[in-house]
Amino acid sequence: MAGVCAPVHWRCLKLQVLSSGSEGNSTLVRAGELSILVDAGLSRVAMEERLESARLAPGAIAHVLVTHGHLDHARSAGMIARRERATLHCAEAMMTHASARRAKRLSTIRIGVEFELKPDEGDDRLRATPVPIPHDCDPTVAYRLEHQGRVAVILTDMGRVDDVVARRLNDAHVLVLEFNHDPALMETSPYPAVLRKRILGNHGHLSNAQGAAMLERMASPNLHTLVLAHLSQKTNTRELALAAAHGALERLGLTSRVRVIVAEQHEALETLEV
Ligand SMILES: [Zn+2]
Ligand SMILES: [Zn+2]
Repeated sequence: MAGVCAPVHWRCLKLQVLSSGSEGNSTLVRAGELSILVDAGLSRVAMEERLESARLAPGAIAHVLVTHGHLDHARSAGMIARRERATLHCAEAMMTHASARRAKRLSTIRIGVEFELKPDEGDDRLRATPVPIPHDCDPTVAYRLEHQGRVAVILTDMGRVDDVVARRLNDAHVLVLEFNHDPALMETSPYPAVLRKRILGNHGHLSNAQGAAMLERMASPNLHTLVLAHLSQKTNTRELALAAAHGALERLGLTSRVRVIVAEQHEALETLEV
């Protein structure tokens, strides 16, 4: 039955990380008949390839949400929204951004205020809350997405551990969380000092230890799947990120209950049922 998510116990909120990392970020979220993208940071061609690999016909995306104006999140957002005849949702400050201007349908988000997303046809609804986070692009938001009591949270590009943010995003069933870098690898990296300072600063990116500290603040009994996201290819390793995440889960007593996956830059992850 189109647009209806019953029977009971059948989870119909689904999330698939299409790409994650400094070369481009995008996550596909499906709620019954409704499909949306959070960020479209790859090139248009690469985005189309990922959408095809997710078996989405052109025009299937109804909404594109952009977390902030950095190109690794916004690069082809307007072009993809236009191709999909989707509405592009972004902050007022991003409306004049070159990537956003290509969209035909634009909607301004109010930071911190929940809004509802629906398909062009059908009854499915997804509630989206853009939560402001500290990053060197103002504003930057994390997204809490809820459908029929199931909650997915996408939180990347954040400069420091923040209790207020954690409290607003502490009921995820599936959590996509930044584990960007290892500070020791950063110190010995080929990055110029200015860039190292930016990434390590309060408006940069979460280190493995900071990601773990956010996880400890955000994990609830709901949490069943954790996706480690936005890993740096130069200043992090999967092993270091996984060790930090597992350490936090151990301290929480959640090791056996939470599955941990590392998001990839160059291929889409499997579809996760939220
Ligand atoms: Zn980013
Ligand atoms: Zn950013």
